[in-house]
This record gives sequence, structure tokens and C-alpha cells, in this order.
Amino acid sequence: MRLYNTLTRQREDFVPADGRLVRMYACGLTVYARGHIGNFRTFISLDVLRRALKYVAGFDVKQVVNFTDVDDKTIAGAEREGVPLGEYTARYIAAFHEDCSALGLEPSEENPRATDPANIQAMSDMIATLERKGHTYRSDGSIYFKIATMPDYGRLARLDHEGILAGARVDSDEYDKEDARDFVLWKATKPGEPTWDAGVGPGRPGWHIECSAMALRLLGEAPIDIHAGGIDLIFPHHENEIAQSECATGKPFARTWVHFEHLLVENQKMSKSLGNVYTLPDVVSRGFRVSTLRYLLLSAHYRSRLNFTWAGMAQAEEAIRRWTDFLARLDTITGGEAHAAVAEAVGAARTAFDGAMADDLNTAAALGEVFELVRALNTAADAGGLGAADVAVVRAAFAHFDDVIGVVSLRRREDASAGLSEADIERYMHDRQEARRRRDFAAADRIRAELLELGVILEDGPQGTRWKRK
Ligand code: AMP
Ligand code: ZN
Repeated sequence: MRLYNTLTRQREDFVPADGRLVRMYACGLTVYARGHIGNFRTFISLDVLRRALKYVAGFDVKQVVNFTDVDDKTIAGAEREGVPLGEYTARYIAAFHEDCSALGLEPSEENPRATDPANIQAMSDMIATLERKGHTYRSDGSIYFKIATMPDYGRLARLDHEGILAGARVDSDEYDKEDARDFVLWKATKPGEPTWDAGVGPGRPGWHIECSAMALRLLGEAPIDIHAGGIDLIFPHHENEIAQSECATGKPFARTWVHFEHLLVENQKMSKSLGNVYTLPDVVSRGFRVSTLRYLLLSAHYRSRLNFTWAGMAQAEEAIRRWTDFLARLDTITGGEAHAAVAEAVGAARTAFDGAMADDLNTAAALGEVFELVRALNTAADAGGLGAADVAVVRAAFAHFDDVIGVVSLRRREDASAGLSEADIERYMHDRQEARRRRDFAAADRIRAELLELGVILEDGPQGTRWKRK
């Protein structure tokens, strides 16, 4: 298995330190809103990394993905709504679990919340260690990490030390590379904000300390094998995680750093002001299935930018159908002996698929191999060169492909649970109505077709739309 390591800017052979178990941490959602499809590009890429480590490289994986449930944004959101922080974040945590399941993500071994008492304790302990080793100072009730005490600070982001202002500090969790400063570990709380005292005095954790403490508490001794996250986290978040962890433990923090590129929407950054922040329910309301989104988001290499378009979703849907149509065709092959050419083609495709996945998760090339095999086997079947005795080996290969890609199994689950309730049908009809209202007739038609496939017929009449089961 080869992975691109952001720390060395190189592709490297990857083997976990103990040769068997990959100890992997990824920064999870900041739970002040429902995750959007950009966030899920990161989590789907992580899922593909996990599956490739397991099903292609044969390792075991222990994966920790946290919830950032206390930071500047969550506190501001709870305050705005006048609800306790825990109640506010619980909503988005529930939605995240729902969305992960809908996307067919394998569950992480651990999903710690920053505010779990054991995690707050671990953060406080790490800060106390940093204090003891002389890496901190206190000011106005907050504790800061003094980056001058770490000569190689900035290694991950390749910071230019000239630009760092000695002695200046920054209180916010997010800031630019040009503003590299002493950053806050433990924040003095303002009245009305949640506060803890686990040994370093009253306050609340800064964002960066959360991940260092949770990763080492749950994965064990540094260095962990893989630390992953979206590309925007390289600076300051991951740089600061490295500083805290390495100064506290005296050891490297993570051996391999994996960063996933961003998802754009119609070539623009996703942002609330542009109105292009989509969630899973938004995708479903356009008449698409979640499995289609999963396919689209993993069809490009994780280190290249991916541009989300509705046309791209339609193409992804076509690709899935080519795959599932072929599997359905296998059911119709009832006679005939085995063909050496089939076994050979299947074996070569399996090797090429695994080779592409092991080459820094080249999902685009791996999918290319899948569809090349579909084409070759359809041609063979047309010419009577695919017998019933070939089918088992063909099915086994496609099952292996889908262990990693995870789209066809998800599609089957969607189909199986398609015994729609009336409330589900009402929701589809509402979405279709909305689509028509905004004159998106393609979406409206897609929703009608989707319902038809699920066994529900819509009839538009003067009294509005009525439905009946097929
Ligand atoms: P956040 O909730 O902002 O902390 O983000 C959760 C994860 O999603 C982080 O790993 C981010 O880097 C990642 N992320 C945020 N926006 C995008 C995007 N547009 N495309 C891909 N990943 C993203
Ligand atoms: Zn993190």
C-alpha cells in the first residue's frame, strides 16, 4: 500500500507500526450544523481508505473520528438559539450518524465527543504536562502554547519562520498561515459559556487540544499510524496538534498524514451566502439516491478537487446502473461451462483494481478496471463465451470490488428498505412539488420515476396529485 504523506510530500510505502493494526484518527464534524456534502467527501474518502487498508492490504483498522462539540462556533450557535450546548450539538450528532449510515460508511471504532469527561480530563492533563515542560504561558485567564519553544514548528505546513511574530498570540481557533502565533490551549470562559476545571483552572478547551488528547487517549502511544482530515486542516489545526502532542510526549505524533481535497459545487466554494451548501436530504429531494452521491464523491482521486454538478450525479447514476445491470444479467445465464478466458480476464481485473487502490487510493483507475471488465464480459456473454460455470468467479470479483467501493451493497439496501411508508411518499411528493415550483422539471420527473421504481404511481389531476401503489 502506498500513501501520499503530507508531512514528507511524498508517496510512501505504508505499513502500520506493528505490522497488523492501523491506528487511525480523523478530525470529525464540528457539530453546529448538519454535515454538508463537502464534509462527506472527506468522510467517504476516509471510508475508502479504511476499506482499502482492510480489504486490499489486509490490515486491521482502529479508527477514531471525533465530534467537535465545544468550540467558538458551537458555543455561538447554542447561545443564538438559547439552548444548552449539549442539547444543541446532540441534534447534529444524531444527523451525522443518520447520514453516515445512509452513505454506507463503516462505523468507526470510536466517535468521542470533546466534552466527554474523560476527554476533558485528557486535555487538561496534556496541558499540565506542556506547562511542566515549559511550553506554555498564561495570560488573562487563558493558557497559550509558546511556539518559540518548538524549533521545528511549522514542519507540516512548511511555514516560513521569518514571518512568525514572536510573542504575539491568537485566541480564535481558525486563522491564516500568515498569522501564525502562539495559540490558545485553554480558554478563559466568558459569562454564560460552559466551563470545566480538570486541573489547570476554570475554562474550556481550544479546538486543537481536543484532537491531540482524544487521539492519544483512544489510540495509545505516539506515534499513531495515520492522521487524516480535509485539506483545510493542515494549518493551523494539524500543525498545532503536532506541536502539542510532540512537546507533551517527546515523540512524533503521527507517521502518515493524509489530506482530502475539497469538494466544489458548480466550480464554486460551498458557502451559505452562495446558497450552494447541500446536505443529504437536499440531494434526496432532487430525486437522487444517496448511493449515487457516494459513487460520485469517490469517483475522483481524493487529492484532486472534485466539482459537484447535478449532471455529474446523473452520470454517476448511469455508471451504477451499468454495474447493477451487468450483475442482473448474470442471473439470466443458466447453462454453459467455464471459459479459461473469463477466469483470466477476471483475475487480471482484480489484480489491476487492487493495484490501483494500493497506489494511493486511485479510485478513478480502480473504477475504470471495473467497467472495462463489465464491457469485456458483456461482449463475451453476447458471443456465448460466458457460461453458468463462470458466474461464481465473476460474482466473487465484483463482490470484492464493492467491498471497497461500497455502492452496490448500499443500493441493494436502499432497494430492500424501499417498502415506502405513507409519510415517505408524502415527503417525495412534497419534494416533487417544490421542484416544480422552482421549475426544475428534470428533478420533478426524476422523483416521479424514482417513486415508480419503488412501486408508487403518481397521478396529476385538477385536485392535485394523488398516489397509488402499483
Ligand atoms: P468541520 O465540520 O468544518 O470541522 O469539517 C469536518 C471535515 O470536513 C474536516 O475534515 C474538513 O476539512 C472537511 N471539509 C470541510 N469542507 C469541505 C469541502 N468543501 N470538501 C471536502 N471536505 C471538507
Ligand atoms: Zn482535529
